[in-house]
Amino acid sequence: MKIQVNGSKAGDKENGCALCGATWGDYYEEIDGEKLFFCCDVCATEFKNMIEEIKRRTGWKKIDELSIEGNYYKGRNCVAKTEGREYKFYVKFGDDAEIETFKEIE
Ligand SMILES: [Zn+2]
Repeated sequence: MKIQVNGSKAGDKENGCALCGATWGDYYEEIDGEKLFFCCDVCATEFKNMIEEIKRRTGWKKIDELSIEGNYYKGRNCVAKTEGREYKFYVKFGDDAEIETFKEIE
């Protein structure tokens, strides 16, 4: 999965957390058969919840590209892509890494 967070490559130790872009921490989680880097387990859980929600709503089996703009407080505007298709949404997480708001963007 190609991941961009606020305009920069993310998802490995060198580039930063797959959700927030932070380079501190040392947490890995396997998602869609790929080992992704996260700053902490909270970001990893939020990311997993988001991926599951995208798949549930689109019926996609996997996601090739994901672009994330925003942060925890404002929420995040995202674009997911797979096989030439595009899915835009807004997501905001709650205190327990659960999805608080999820809106599809036209
Ligand atoms: Zn993070």
